[in-house]
Amino acid sequence: MGKTILPDARVMPRFAGLCTFCRYPRLEDVAPEQSPVDWAIYGVPFDGGVTYRPGARFGPRAIREASQYVKRYHVEHGVDVCDTLSIADAGDAPISPYSIPETIEAHRNFAREIGNAQSTRLLAVGGDHSIAYTNIQVAWERFGSPKKGLALIHFDSHLDTVDSVWGEKHGHASVFRRAIEDGIVTPDRMLSIGVKGPLNSGDDLKFAAANGVRVLSPDEFRREGVKAAADFLRREGGEPVYLTFDIDVVDPAFAPGTGTPSIGGFTSGEVLAALRLFKGANLVGADVVEVLPDRDVAGITSLLAAHVIFEILALDAARR
Ligand code: MN
Ligand code: MN
Repeated sequence: MGKTILPDARVMPRFAGLCTFCRYPRLEDVAPEQSPVDWAIYGVPFDGGVTYRPGARFGPRAIREASQYVKRYHVEHGVDVCDTLSIADAGDAPISPYSIPETIEAHRNFAREIGNAQSTRLLAVGGDHSIAYTNIQVAWERFGSPKKGLALIHFDSHLDTVDSVWGEKHGHASVFRRAIEDGIVTPDRMLSIGVKGPLNSGDDLKFAAANGVRVLSPDEFRREGVKAAADFLRREGGEPVYLTFDIDVVDPAFAPGTGTPSIGGFTSGEVLAALRLFKGANLVGADVVEVLPDRDVAGITSLLAAHVIFEILALDAARR
């Protein structure tokens, strides 16, 4: 549809007014000419799926706040995101802080209704990584085929393919195990970038290996990332692709505000460059998860997450 109307920063300064993602309009305020929107961004303030430190429920608020200084023109892609795409903030999904199953159901009902249009792509902001499952499912319902799952670009320090933890099958460590088992992600079209140890056991790698998931550690990505991304794009062509971004893929020196920090990750500059390699992918949904504002320093993790949102939107704007 094109065009996102932003408030004029010379009239309504970036530090004033109601806080939405990147100052995009609230979904209910989008003019008919800009509807249905191309992308709806929404928060999922839920962290009941974590195995370690909680606090990601405060992620959507902190990222909205940090995103006020995200501007509209992407220099590397040479594209004005707001001239190309119609984007809105759809608010926060209803969640149940004590219940993963109730949260999944409430979140799914909410996401299915967003934009009231099958053409609107959804970008979910966590929350812990468990919330990705539902957004992937709805993206698959909107853009996928009943016969096969979506391709997946996965940025994370962790594979998140554990069968269950404490008997829970939908925690943040099991997202892609479930998505693959349920057929909404095709494992041999999944690329996991930035995975690193130490692990509880070498067995943790077995599910991904047995199912053909391509896994690249940070060192491997530095060596082979350009080719791996090109191979991915060539293979997928215009097929629907989902992008999931766990902020802990970035080194805690650059993104300390997260619950399961992992040493030896990408710098913020490296990870933005890595994202830009996927220009041309037909992104049909995305998420940015695992920001814990209470562990953050000077808001740098939230600020990075806000720019990762912008990079994802810019990938789609650059494709059109
Ligand atoms: Mn994760
Ligand atoms: Mn992780």
